[in-house]
Amino acid sequence: MSLLVVGSFGIDTVQTPTETREDVIGGSAVYFSYAASYFGPVRIVGAVGDDWPTECTELLQSRGVDTSGIEICEGGQTFRWTGKYMDNMNDRETLDVQLNVLGDFEPRLSDSARESKYVFLANGGVDMQLSVLDQCPNASMRVADTMDLWITTQRDKLLELLKRLDGLVLNDSEAILLTGDKNVVRSGKKILDMGPRFVVIKRGEHGAMFIDKDQIFVLPAYPTADVVDPTGAGDSFAGGMMGYLAANDLDADLDSMKAALAYGTVTASFNVEGFSLERFQQIEREDLEARMAEYRRMLTLP
Ligand code: AMP
Repeated sequence: MSLLVVGSFGIDTVQTPTETREDVIGGSAVYFSYAASYFGPVRIVGAVGDDWPTECTELLQSRGVDTSGIEICEGGQTFRWTGKYMDNMNDRETLDVQLNVLGDFEPRLSDSARESKYVFLANGGVDMQLSVLDQCPNASMRVADTMDLWITTQRDKLLELLKRLDGLVLNDSEAILLTGDKNVVRSGKKILDMGPRFVVIKRGEHGAMFIDKDQIFVLPAYPTADVVDPTGAGDSFAGGMMGYLAANDLDADLDSMKAALAYGTVTASFNVEGFSLERFQQIEREDLEARMAEYRRMLTLP
């Protein structure tokens, strides 16, 4: 098993213009691992409190996710996040964050997890992300996600992390926050100067942009008419992208990354069609492939 993800396990409250759901399952590592599981085996590492429902761990296990790296912190509470989506269902505001057990989680990887070749550092504290990198010296593809909270509160450590990454995946607003440059292309290039050999900038309903030192490409979002809850779209995108790369033992060359971003896009497009993991629980790999075939047709020019 060569794909490892570390990140948050969350209990989320999500407000959309039409509906509010309280205490649903979320977290960056949870969405990522479920999405990646469509492509191949994935190992998840993170911390939960006593309040984490065991059925959720079982749900991941039912997808073949290796959950032995989940640490249950007795007497602790799971990370909690409350977010509100604006009418356009693209912009959102974080109303509340309670780090709880995520705040001082120190991952201790098993010997086999330390041998992972593909390592994804999903959203969570930068100390946690750095610690996993230290423990995976043989990884050949080290990719991280980050977000506004960590850019503003742990900037110096984040800059240290960037020097040690192959890739960084982040939203356009986060790229601007990190670099201070409002142009997304320039801001992506500035991130390359900070360390990683490639950057993927997620642009919500506007798709995703890949930048490395030689090339840039963009892919549109898959046009779904049924956006119910965008929470976890970024993590599902990353899970599809990394799951595809790991399952096919690929590096970050142009063709591999084009296909990987396309799979990430299509995987995320399902996730937004329901709250939490609800839509994912209705689909299988064939559904992803059918939508992928449609997406390919959409992208072909005469
Ligand atoms: P996304 O919509 O892809 O940005 O991911 C949203 C998920 O990330 C939610 O399920 C939250 O529980 C989780 N999350 C939100 N804020 C953070 C944070 N600062 N660190 C880690 N995970 C977070």
